[in-house]
Amino acid sequence: MKHITPLLVLATILLSPTIQAAEAPSIVPRPQQMKITGGAAFRLNAQTKIRYQGDQQQVSELLASALRPATGFPLPVLKDTQKDSNRILLMTDPHLKGTGTEGYTLVANSSEIEIRAKTTRGLFNATQTLIQLLPTKIHSKTKSSNTQWSIPAVAIQDHPAFPWRGMMLDVSRYFFTKEYVLRYLDMMAMHKMNALHWHLIDDAGWRIEIKKYPRLTEIGGFRGKGENRYGGFYTQEDIKEIVAYATARNITIVPEIELPAHTLPALVAYPHLGCFNKKFEVPTRHSISPELYCAGKETTWTFLEDVFTEVAALFPGTYIHIGGDEARFSRWNKCPDCQARMKKEGLKNGHELQGWMTTRVEKFLKTKGKRIIGWDEILGAGVSKDAGIMTWHKPRTAVDGAKRGNPVVMSLTGHAYFDVAESKLPGEPPTATWIKPISLEKAYTWDPIPAGLTGAAAKNILGASGCIWTDQFLHKAHILADKPGQGTTASEAYVDYLSLPRMGALSEVCWTAKTSRNYENFTGRMRTMLARYTELDYQYRIPVPDVTVKPNAEKTFTLSATPAIVGGTIRYTVDGSTPTTDSKVLNGSVNVAKVAGFRATTFAPGNKRHSLLFQYSDPSNKYGKQGTLIGKWKSGQVGNTKAKEVIFDATGHINSNGLYTITFLFTGGRQRLDIDGIEVVRNDTVPVGKDIHHGFTGGSRKDNTYKIKVSNYETGASFKIKAMIYGDEGADSNGVVLIRKGE
Ligand SMILES: [Zn+2]
Repeated sequence: MKHITPLLVLATILLSPTIQAAEAPSIVPRPQQMKITGGAAFRLNAQTKIRYQGDQQQVSELLASALRPATGFPLPVLKDTQKDSNRILLMTDPHLKGTGTEGYTLVANSSEIEIRAKTTRGLFNATQTLIQLLPTKIHSKTKSSNTQWSIPAVAIQDHPAFPWRGMMLDVSRYFFTKEYVLRYLDMMAMHKMNALHWHLIDDAGWRIEIKKYPRLTEIGGFRGKGENRYGGFYTQEDIKEIVAYATARNITIVPEIELPAHTLPALVAYPHLGCFNKKFEVPTRHSISPELYCAGKETTWTFLEDVFTEVAALFPGTYIHIGGDEARFSRWNKCPDCQARMKKEGLKNGHELQGWMTTRVEKFLKTKGKRIIGWDEILGAGVSKDAGIMTWHKPRTAVDGAKRGNPVVMSLTGHAYFDVAESKLPGEPPTATWIKPISLEKAYTWDPIPAGLTGAAAKNILGASGCIWTDQFLHKAHILADKPGQGTTASEAYVDYLSLPRMGALSEVCWTAKTSRNYENFTGRMRTMLARYTELDYQYRIPVPDVTVKPNAEKTFTLSATPAIVGGTIRYTVDGSTPTTDSKVLNGSVNVAKVAGFRATTFAPGNKRHSLLFQYSDPSNKYGKQGTLIGKWKSGQVGNTKAKEVIFDATGHINSNGLYTITFLFTGGRQRLDIDGIEVVRNDTVPVGKDIHHGFTGGSRKDNTYKIKVSNYETGASFKIKAMIYGDEGADSNGVVLIRKGE
């Protein structure tokens, strides 16, 4: 045996690259098809070359520049003039089947990696997959000497489920620097997101330079006075740079130029654009201004056409977003010019005037080769079938729009408004509260195609877009208390936190076929993705430990959890204190005597950041109004379709004569609990009272409370509740029994 051991060790070492390669790589969004072909891995090393065919130099250079810092390899980018090994080859192939314009194939073996796509856009997406086939250290900005840069032997064929995979960034309420916008584009690109909806204008600031109207940014780009003066804008040179950066990363920028509402800075800069030529100020607090562009005066049209001419020239994409949301018509109703316009055009009310305005803008933009997209309010305004509808608050508009033939992008508040928090846990940053939290799971388990929409109409759903509104910067000024010396400002970190990891979920909603989507599988792959975010220094929300609590027979508890991040740890305490980097590490599972003081947090790799606190809470606490917990029923303990007597001990809870109310509450399982009645006995034998009626508790509940009048209370006696209970179609039912004194 002595002689065999070293050989075995050697064999293990030799085999390990293949063994590693056999594990499915963690790619987000999940590719449509990926085969682990099983051969030896491709090793990126100092001799590796990146070769390209045709005019694919730029996308090849982008790949090289992504791989160079961490590897330290030269990775020369060369034309494909000779067949050689140890290379990554990028080529367009017009005959490629089944990949569409944005898809690709990627085949890796020990001697080369070959990437094919119909277009540069597909090649770029392939490079993002290739980077995710490498260890997470590939994102390091400095050379990582101890890493093996191997790529498993795989054959991938991939394409997106939806053509519009978007994020919206509100730069009006908060002005993000050009550098942060570029960083945000990188964040999107790694998820294969391809549309940045750029909310450039709102009541709180005008952010795009318009050469013909310099006051828009000089005046309208700033708010507040003295040292509280705040603002900024993008010059046209900035915008050209941002657009070029996005285009190289397969991202189209859709600028939003709001009208007729949400445009107060334009009226501040040029009062004649409003109905009554009034002077305004750019507001420093959040509000939705009732002021609109005057739809009656021709001077408004001169202005809008000039602005849209400059905007159309800056953005190469097809769509220009014209807003259209939340217009209120009190000004138009009183303005003589607007009233005259309505009379002349035969329009009945403000809605029809907005529709007229929208279609006039649409017609103008058509002359510039552009199509409009607007919030769902624009549907029904007489826009053409070319107009894109962005459904945010009225799901019905998605169905109506798609059936009518309009392209539709889904930005539903309940799934895609990432300016709300992921949870209500203490410690979440201040966020929008007018809608419920959107957990990672809720962001993931969503089909952009509304129920019932099929066939050609369903194809009009272009995809989905997540929204990062920055109203909170106006509500909660302290978010702006940026700490100097950090790589990312507090405000930028805040937006990172809201965006990630939910952008990962949305990317998969938009990219991966519905049949290949599975939340558990996704969170498994996200473990690696979160480690990538850590390397990139993205200030993402670290998942709270998902702790399973199992009571044991000997009255202890087994707590188990897996860190949600590769290289991360879960640390815990049992005394109610907040875990620190010195606290014990939860490796798999731990036994504790009490769960009440158990606390746990996830620490990201490197221990620099951690999650919010996991705190065990007794499920009965939720039912405070119903009384105190006296017992639980569990799967298998109750009758299987037939009533069975189960005893709950109320000793100590029945502590004087009087009326008591006992409630059964279902907490989980496949069957509801049916209750035929209860009987209370004193010292196991003496009848106290009974309440015999049928009730049930499950997805819904009826008559599930029972009342007992105690008139023979005796100090020191035991009181037990005998309940006749059963699952309606089996015994898989769980719940709690609660008692309170009185009604
Ligand atoms: Zn007017």
